[in-house]
Amino acid sequence: MKKKIGIAAAAVILALALLAGILLGRSQENASSPQVYTGFAMSTVITQTAYGKKAAEAEIELQRRLQAFENRFSMFLAQSDIARINAAAGKSPVSVSGETMGLLKRALELSKTSQGAFQLTIAPVTQLWGITTDHPRVPGADEIARALALVDDDDLILNEEEGTAYLRREGQAVDLGGVAKGTACELARETYEEYGIDSAWLSIGGNIYVRGEKPGGTPFRIGFRDPYQTENSYLASFQMKDRVLAVSGGYERYFEENGVRYHHIIDPATGYPAESDIVSAGVFAQEGTLADFMSTTLFVWGSGRTLEYMRRPDACDVIFLTDTGTLYVSESLRDSFELEETHADMPVVFVERREAA
Ligand code: ADP
Ligand code: MG
Repeated sequence: MKKKIGIAAAAVILALALLAGILLGRSQENASSPQVYTGFAMSTVITQTAYGKKAAEAEIELQRRLQAFENRFSMFLAQSDIARINAAAGKSPVSVSGETMGLLKRALELSKTSQGAFQLTIAPVTQLWGITTDHPRVPGADEIARALALVDDDDLILNEEEGTAYLRREGQAVDLGGVAKGTACELARETYEEYGIDSAWLSIGGNIYVRGEKPGGTPFRIGFRDPYQTENSYLASFQMKDRVLAVSGGYERYFEENGVRYHHIIDPATGYPAESDIVSAGVFAQEGTLADFMSTTLFVWGSGRTLEYMRRPDACDVIFLTDTGTLYVSESLRDSFELEETHADMPVVFVERREAA
């Protein structure tokens, strides 16, 4: 299981990172060497690499905004907008900030395109499993059936005029875990923009945002992880610019019981971890929320529906690995894509989009 970093350890990392940031920031006259900053938020390590005079300042500000973002959107923090909506389920509409309304609206609009695979209201089931908590367990079939009966995105009522959000039935709950890290990438874009940073990349638990190119005009190359190896081995890499790459896989967060592995992406059709023939799915998009939503959805869909999606004229660029070891890659990525030398023999199928009618 992916090792949880304790609060104390995270605080130490953060303090060191801040110190390093300040020291480096002082000594950094040369804009061609990157400013690296490691922080912690949303239960994951966040690494920023930025170039430019105000890089250190921008990174510290972004870290602050990411923490504020978590405070507003985590279902685990009692004062967050999401926790308040969940606590008032079946009782009363809750006033939320414009930012929360915007995110809920976009996430709901996206979830409705997933043919049921992505459900913002999956929380009763994810809470039951507790896979991303310190006490995961396999629930009984009856518990799962009861929790599953509460999952229905049509019961999340957004009233934009009143600025309220409401879940119709008691026990229902919203979980933004499937899109939040992608949305966080949009905060990065805004913050770097404000600070005049033209060249940077950010990594937040499997999601990567790339801004511009390296100083001097060399493109950034981003790796697609080998899910069977440690965090720093890659199957392939891509040249990337001004986009987010969101990756979802069953290997990222899971626990084992009686030799069975249970991961953190739930199939709303069953209430159990999705039995996908996809090991790992990566989606590229300018909009982080879309990329993150899509990667979770493709994982639940499995290869059949994902291939149909990739052929659509409006599809995002996609890479996915099947459990039989084939990589499927959008044809439009062919020129920026390269297999790692260690995987030169890997079968790769390029998938073309249909022409728009
Ligand atoms: P990660 O959070 O590891 O980057 P994902 O983006 O794929 O991975 O999101 C997984 C998270 O999404 C889960 O931890 C849970 O909070 C939530 N989730 C799980 N299953 C679903 C689903 N079917 N629809 C929407 N959200 C889900
Ligand atoms: Mg996702």
